Amino acid sequence: MINKKVVTRFAPSPTGLFHAGSYRTALFAYIFARQNNGKFILRIEDTDKVRSKKKYEDNIIDSLKWMGLKYDEFYRQSERTEIYRKYLKQLIDSGHAYISKEIPKEPGDREEVIRFKNPNRKVVFQDMVRGQIEFDTTELGDFVIAKSMDEPVFHLVNVIDDLEMGMTHIIRGEDHISNTPRQILIYEAIGAPLPIFAHIPLLLSANRAKLSKRHGAVPVSSYRERGFLPEAIINFMALLGWHPTDDIEILSLEQIIEKFSIERVQKSGAIFDEEKLRWFNKQYIGKLNDNDFIENAKSFLPKWLLPTSDSFKMLLPLLKEKIVSFGDIQVLFESSGELGFINNMQSIDPERLLWKKTPDREVAKKHLIETKLLLDKLDKTSFNTETVRSAIWPYVEKNGKGDVLWPLRMSVTGQDRSPDPFVCISILGKDESLKRISVAISLLEKTS
Ligand code: GLU
Repeated sequence: MINKKVVTRFAPSPTGLFHAGSYRTALFAYIFARQNNGKFILRIEDTDKVRSKKKYEDNIIDSLKWMGLKYDEFYRQSERTEIYRKYLKQLIDSGHAYISKEIPKEPGDREEVIRFKNPNRKVVFQDMVRGQIEFDTTELGDFVIAKSMDEPVFHLVNVIDDLEMGMTHIIRGEDHISNTPRQILIYEAIGAPLPIFAHIPLLLSANRAKLSKRHGAVPVSSYRERGFLPEAIINFMALLGWHPTDDIEILSLEQIIEKFSIERVQKSGAIFDEEKLRWFNKQYIGKLNDNDFIENAKSFLPKWLLPTSDSFKMLLPLLKEKIVSFGDIQVLFESSGELGFINNMQSIDPERLLWKKTPDREVAKKHLIETKLLLDKLDKTSFNTETVRSAIWPYVEKNGKGDVLWPLRMSVTGQDRSPDPFVCISILGKDESLKRISVAISLLEKTS
């Protein structure tokens, strides 16, 4: 049990879009705070004025909001210079830091910086994930902690903020392990107690290379744009480097908070397998009721397909079955997609109207004429998948599935892949279907 109120933070530098690696770090810090009834802080580490951009900060904030990770406090380092100056002064006055004259090597280099006076000794700390870590700080030399009194750098501001904000646990990516010894020296120089560190394993791409902004790390906003569900992303991410004891994989954020244990986070890198994320998304889409499905699908539907229309109702089961993310809906309706035929009937080579086992134009033509007559008898107002199927089915049974249905489906879709002909015909409606069948019949006539 932890006695002090737990405080964790996510401290991104706004120098790029919020990608999977950072998101997982944020998630673990969030989960740990919530499961201990603690506080979760978002701190934007924007001391690098050149690389930090407002648009990246916005992207981080929007993504966290979309994922439902609420923070209790928000800070921006660029607004805290006064606080850092106070500590810098204290460190200089106490002899732990000094103003160092430098020989500029390149244009723009400073003639003066503030360096930390390294006591050159061994630092030992207990990491919640990695166990005991020892580090000889001698090789670090007197490292720079500020370029001037108003320009402190990462190591210093990171420590001061964690201290000032009462951080009890520093949960962050393993890439920061090598920074920890410097930061511990600063804590000690200030005379502050150390927080507990937990360095979580890096995410690796499928070929086990480090996932980075340049290699395979997809921004969370792009998953959002492609119609992934935040619940699926959270579930997938939580299982990167951790898994529950019972191996049940589908978990809500509440369940994860209940079961998560930072001590059980693995040391080795976790593979970010997008296929697995797609699997999770499919599971979560499968759990949506019709209203929620429509809500999510809406923005991906072609303009002509209103969610309230009969066509949409007919397509709904098919969409539910086919998509892995809502963005797939757009792909289905593209001219090369399975539903592309609805809006783009390609001109068709009559040969393709012939069933491969009966490549006879007369046969195809005859079945098209007959099925057209059957469809023509149907009332427009009750023209749906079921009425279409019942109207044609006896004829199909008598004359053979392939022989009847292949030319029929081809005549209305012109596509090798599409839903079954009854669905296609009902979506197109009576007039459009009959028109397309007539065109196919005349094509067969012309060429025979
Ligand atoms: N600002 C650092 C980064 O973006 C994080 C530092 C930390 O978590 O301690 O990588």
